[in-house]
Amino acid sequence: MKSDFQISNECEKKHIADVAAKLGINSEDLILYGNHKAKIQTKNIKKDIREDANLVLVTSINPTSSGEGKSTVTIGLSDALNRIGKKSCVALREPSLGPVLGRKGGAAGGGYAQVVPMEDINLHFTGDMHAITTAHNAIAVLVNNHVFQGNELEIDKIVFNRVMDMNARDLRHIKINAGTDLERNDGFDITVASEIMAILCLSESLGDLKEKLKNILVAYNKKGEPVYVKDLKIEGVITSLLKDAIKPNIVQTLENNPAIIHGGPFANIAHGCNSILATKTALKFADYVITEAGFGADLGAEKFLDIKCRKSGLKPKAAVVVATVKALKLHGDIEEKDLKEENLEALAKGVQNLEKHIENLRKFNLPIVVALNVFVTDTEKELAFLEEWAREQGVEFSRTEVWEKGGLGGIDLAEKVVKAVENNDKELQLLYKDEESIVDKINTVCCEIYGADGVNYSDEVLKEIERIESLGFKNLPVCMAKTPVSLTDNAKIKGRPTGFKITINDVKLRSGAGFVVAYANKVLTMPGLPKNPSALNIDIDEETETILGIF
Ligand code: ADP
Repeated sequence: MKSDFQISNECEKKHIADVAAKLGINSEDLILYGNHKAKIQTKNIKKDIREDANLVLVTSINPTSSGEGKSTVTIGLSDALNRIGKKSCVALREPSLGPVLGRKGGAAGGGYAQVVPMEDINLHFTGDMHAITTAHNAIAVLVNNHVFQGNELEIDKIVFNRVMDMNARDLRHIKINAGTDLERNDGFDITVASEIMAILCLSESLGDLKEKLKNILVAYNKKGEPVYVKDLKIEGVITSLLKDAIKPNIVQTLENNPAIIHGGPFANIAHGCNSILATKTALKFADYVITEAGFGADLGAEKFLDIKCRKSGLKPKAAVVVATVKALKLHGDIEEKDLKEENLEALAKGVQNLEKHIENLRKFNLPIVVALNVFVTDTEKELAFLEEWAREQGVEFSRTEVWEKGGLGGIDLAEKVVKAVENNDKELQLLYKDEESIVDKINTVCCEIYGADGVNYSDEVLKEIERIESLGFKNLPVCMAKTPVSLTDNAKIKGRPTGFKITINDVKLRSGAGFVVAYANKVLTMPGLPKNPSALNIDIDEETETILGIF
């Protein structure tokens, strides 16, 4: 099998204006970045949602650290829908350099289900990550400068840190103004956890973006009152820095179908979905929009529904749950080294993880199709076992081979998704109401979705929640931060655990984005690199300017 890059390199790409024209987007509404990438000028596009367009969410079981093929299936499903005569477009997140240079790889799909040019998309793309990093750090610099220059607002405690789009372990905790009266602790998160990233993804226009930026909490003053971006009067410059980053990017799949890729918050430490503008733009022009939310359905799908859909009015008509034989076997408690062996016992145990995610998605009233992302190492007995299991559960199931065959390997999945969408007569049901308290919302997610018996809060966390509610933010949704590889807050516990509690270690108000982040156990908001990072494999041919070794 060829590498992802070899396959993408062989793709005969169409000019991006021709790909956009397939959707009905005029070339005057494109800002070209060469021949194969463009930004879409959304100013002239009406924001109402077309009721007859169909949004489909792709999610997964709790994944292994290498991913289960959600992006791959999302792209392959859209290509398959186009093959069966549906006008379909994907809406995906932009990759972060953290995983690209680290361990997991990119976010441009794999095998014969990819978006291209994958090396550009994975490396700098159209510069959105850099703009978001700069906008975030500009706020940090300006608030610190305010304190240095006389501190008119009487700032006592700055609660706005810095970001970098890399796995910079060494910058997690830093000391600034070393050796001066203003010496204090500070630190970096990865850009995809930045509130600016979340705001960009939840904004519907430049005006909306500015309004949300105004409300970012940056500090508390000496009286303990909040200080927002608007108090510093810097929303104008920060919005200006994001003028282009807010416009969705369009590229193409290997089968020359449109793909809108925009915004990229991680789903373990942020809300995990591409931008509302990208999804709504795609829905304006395509009849089917296939979108993905990060990691498993406990994180990505829950936040897609309870944050993104709640705020935007978007309503998916079906969910595809991606599972792999290898991950289900891992949930059945076998060792990684034994994964290649056929093991129906482990599969029977591990499939309970999939069962829980199906039960959870049904709580939102979503029809479900399980996409079993087939690996060449899967045995016929294993696949047949899962097929039979799905039949017993009364859930649609499709063997999906888009990695190996492109859209052709997803025809069965596409047909089942169309059927699920067309037969769906239920109203989307969100998990909790705006008016519920922050603690009730956290408890509901932990007990209903993760399957916990209860939630532990320290007095400090409860005090912070009280402060957030007293500032008038009780009605915000919660954005859970948790390990993606387990339904619990402990990465080592697999399958479908019962009899556990979730421990909330910290909560943070994100008043600009409009949610409260609740951190379950120890979650790193700045990852580190592995001993042999992918960065060591990446090179460039100086003559042809071809990027080498990128997956
Ligand atoms: P996710 O979106 O769930 O994180 P990706 O779609 O990014 O997962 O896929 C993760 C990696 O697995 C990619 O390198 C991709 O090429 C590879 N992959 C996905 N599906 C298959 C498959 N069926 N067989 C082999 N490799 C696959």
